[in-house]
Amino acid sequence: MTDAPLRVAEIGPGPASLYPQATHFSDLAALLHTTPFDAVVLRASLEDNRRMLRELRATPSYRLAPLFCETSDDAVVSALSDGPAPSTSAQLQTHCQTWRERMAVFNNGRPPEGIEAQVLAYLWLRTPGKLNVLRAVDSAQLYSYPLVDCLGGDTVNGQALVRNLVQRNLLDSTALVDRIRLCRRCGSGHLNYVDVCVECTSLDIQRQASLHCFTCGHIGRQTEFLKDGVLVCPNCVTRLRHIGTDYDRPLENYNCNDCQAFFVDADVEARCLDCGERHQPDELQVREMRDYQLSETGLLTARQGLERNTDHYFGGLAMVGANTFKTLLDWQLELIERHQAPSFALLGMRFANLGVTLARLGPQRGHALLDALIERIQVAIRDTDRCTRTSEDQLWVLLMYTDQAGMARVTERLNQIGELFVGQDLQDIRLHTAGCVAPAELLEKESAELLMARLAGELG
Ligand SMILES: [Zn+2]
Ligand SMILES: [Zn+2]
Ligand SMILES: [Zn+2]
Repeated sequence: MTDAPLRVAEIGPGPASLYPQATHFSDLAALLHTTPFDAVVLRASLEDNRRMLRELRATPSYRLAPLFCETSDDAVVSALSDGPAPSTSAQLQTHCQTWRERMAVFNNGRPPEGIEAQVLAYLWLRTPGKLNVLRAVDSAQLYSYPLVDCLGGDTVNGQALVRNLVQRNLLDSTALVDRIRLCRRCGSGHLNYVDVCVECTSLDIQRQASLHCFTCGHIGRQTEFLKDGVLVCPNCVTRLRHIGTDYDRPLENYNCNDCQAFFVDADVEARCLDCGERHQPDELQVREMRDYQLSETGLLTARQGLERNTDHYFGGLAMVGANTFKTLLDWQLELIERHQAPSFALLGMRFANLGVTLARLGPQRGHALLDALIERIQVAIRDTDRCTRTSEDQLWVLLMYTDQAGMARVTERLNQIGELFVGQDLQDIRLHTAGCVAPAELLEKESAELLMARLAGELG
């Protein structure tokens, strides 16, 4: 281990110093112009500390470095810093020595390259570390991992990256912070929940005073009951004299100004403020926001190497093996033949030119693209849908209890993935989809094998 003397920097107003050997800077720009230090102590205002932490974590030489900050009860500071500085020089020395030792054995001694490796290294250096999720109301996803955002910059989808690490068992949850709902079409969390007409889904509804005739049970608008200044049931023509005996006022009812429908409970629709998509509230994508730390597998991986197997482009999607998938599909086909139910849809998709594009992009941008693809596919399908792949660029989804309309919705959402393939590097990628809704579109005596072959033909 190296015993080079520790270089410590302090940033903040005033000359006060915790450590005799520290070099003092009054602002960050001056620090960034000199040879990198081993550790930095931030002693400015909360706002300045937050800003400097973000900037330092985005700067290659300070991304993983020990950065201390007094105001550690702040969520942003806590997510990006190593907490308050050790109280003595000797303790600081020990802290940094441990850091160096851990760095030396990370990934078999290779420096962390790429955002994934850097996130794991950051946690490894602080084992088990903490990866905190914070509210980010101006982002479409409502929450973000500030550390991942700083390390990765604008090109990385932090949520997708963290989910991917979780799916590979590299992270353990330490706390459930929130449960949010997202638009199925664009993934945005900016949703507005509105009461709408049960008949025509119009927004233009209003509460109406209504009466309930005890003689015949009719419920209607109060105005319908008014006749020549007295109350008369428009249905049974009974004169209503005494409230409580002849009639009463039921719960507030709604009247639709568009279709004139009259109803007790309005429907609730979740409307996306970003793309305009309308959903039933239970159709929304539910996501849990969690804090994480390195798992046992994560510790092992950090030490032994994290070369990700790029042979499996879609490893991040929960997949079943192709044979299991075909068995499942055959079983559904048998049920359909015997009972004409339950309906399902089979959807094939092929990403033409994905392999060559990934090779051209290189590992970092390639993984970012795959993460974005997986993210969008996950948003488009339901957790109960089954997924497999028959070749590297060809995926299959079995959508249970899905009819033509449901299939059209999923296909439309998937086709929107094409939005990702803009720009010179990505424009060669083409997404082809082919689907079949059972039982309507099945051919006679079609097995899983035959059905998938037929659709594969359409995928080109
Ligand atoms: Zn009546
Ligand atoms: Zn209506
Ligand atoms: Zn949307």
